[in-house]
Amino acid sequence: MEPHGHTTEDGSAATIGGHVALDFINDLAEQRFQEVDPISGYELLADWAMDAGLLCPPALRHVRDESLEQRAEAEAVFARALDLRQTLYRVFSAEAATTDPDLRDIATLNEELSIALCRRRLKRHEGRFRWSSRGSEIALDVMLWPIVYRAADLLASDRLQWVRECKGKDCERLFLDTSRGRNRRWCDMATCGNRAKARRSYARKRGLAE
Ligand SMILES: [Zn+2]
Repeated sequence: MEPHGHTTEDGSAATIGGHVALDFINDLAEQRFQEVDPISGYELLADWAMDAGLLCPPALRHVRDESLEQRAEAEAVFARALDLRQTLYRVFSAEAATTDPDLRDIATLNEELSIALCRRRLKRHEGRFRWSSRGSEIALDVMLWPIVYRAADLLASDRLQWVRECKGKDCERLFLDTSRGRNRRWCDMATCGNRAKARRSYARKRGLAE
């Protein structure tokens, strides 16, 4: 899916967040994730993970089949994903506002990180090393691991200073500002950017009329 018609320098489709952890935070806030029963929610999460490149098609088929066998476990993973989304949102939002994140959120993130990191393995594939996940063929929470460690990686990197929260009214989308001047304000010019422009122009016209 190519939602906004632009691409990154390497030619891949650009997302609003520009980083998988920020995309996870933005996308799971969408109504389709918030107003869904837990088992359909798990399927949505698995589909999202494949679109985000975190699951290959056979792994997606496998976890979807398994989720029907292990419904309670799948529902628990979905609930955990929503909690993780909230935790990550609060931490990155605080950082974007240059305030200190809540220590409880950092503790929650570290708990998830300990689950995710003990699954990490090096794998040799097509002449180069890649990160892979041990036990990925059986675990229903497989898609949460790379989100957690890539979020942690971003938090501990210099790129954290380029994480921004959209200035749009009531918009909580986060993104990595890779613009040349590091002055991107909106998640998306086509939505929040244009709304802000329209508001400014309306205010200007009112100002002139008065
Ligand atoms: Zn926005």
